[in-house]
Amino acid sequence: MSVLSIQSVSKSYGNIQALNQVSFDVPEGSVFGILGPNGSGKTTLLSIILDVLHADTGQFLWFGKEGSPDQRKKIGSLLETPNFYHYLTAVNNLKITQAISKRGDLNAIDEVLHTVNLHERKDSRFSSYSLGMKQRLAIAGALLGSPKVLVLDEPTNGLDPVGIAEIRNLIQELNRKGHTIIMASHLLDEVEKVCTHVAILNKGKLITTGKVDEVLTDEDMLEMSAPDNDILMQSLQNYPGLTSVKLEGGFVYAYFGKGLSSTAEINAFCFSKGITLSHLLLKKKRLEARFFELTGNESGDFSKRKTN
Ligand code: ATP
Repeated sequence: MSVLSIQSVSKSYGNIQALNQVSFDVPEGSVFGILGPNGSGKTTLLSIILDVLHADTGQFLWFGKEGSPDQRKKIGSLLETPNFYHYLTAVNNLKITQAISKRGDLNAIDEVLHTVNLHERKDSRFSSYSLGMKQRLAIAGALLGSPKVLVLDEPTNGLDPVGIAEIRNLIQELNRKGHTIIMASHLLDEVEKVCTHVAILNKGKLITTGKVDEVLTDEDMLEMSAPDNDILMQSLQNYPGLTSVKLEGGFVYAYFGKGLSSTAEINAFCFSKGITLSHLLLKKKRLEARFFELTGNESGDFSKRKTN
């Protein structure tokens, strides 16, 4: 069952196409990462599904229906850090959030402060909070009314490693409690650690979507060469389990599913075709390489910031 179905959504700002025919489904109970470099359209997409922006074309369904106030109550969101009052306590800030959003009641405030592990500090002023605590308070605000789905835009942006770990743990805890989480991120590392599912965007287009361990799976790569690499390429086309093959820099690179290649078997196969290999080396393809291959992005934009 999908909590959200996005169908052929496109959006342009003048002549900049921010989203181009994007379609994917978010399964119930998932932590769903929308992964892509800066400018790939993540915030635009989140703004559309939260009704902050209108799509030019396409549609999206929450819980199988087009948006209605009832559906909207099931969705909590955090697109930007909310404007909490610095001189007020956490609990008084949330009272204001609750009064404005009309989500939940006063008892809910205590509950969400417990959930985000800020209850002991509920009477401290917002100004005394660390960045991580401020972000957890913002998530507490989004949790008022106990929404089934939480939508977060780059929830760990700007936080130190401790704050990042706290938010990631909180996301996983909320997911265990039954919330579906949809989060944008430009960090491959983060999506691998936190998310169950992913949609990869690049320049406004959906590159791929699915379970994280399937989409970003490691691959076996064999680096090979023979006296005639063209004949080697041709012979390999029919090799069972081969996913792709390419010729680059004087080597033939053959790709297989994780753990599915055997140097002994491929050597025997080539020999049976009359090909004597002059070079055969098994290399594990790194996830980042797979990711760059998917997005065509060689700049390392996603992976420079390694986090815990
Ligand atoms: P970031 O991680 O930097 O926030 P993003 O993946 O969220 O990036 P968007 O913010 O959705 O991407 O931007 C997608 C494209 O649309 C970019 O080229 C951006 O410059 C452009 N864009 C976004 N908002 C506007 C706007 N209000 N006016 C014009 N262009 C915009």
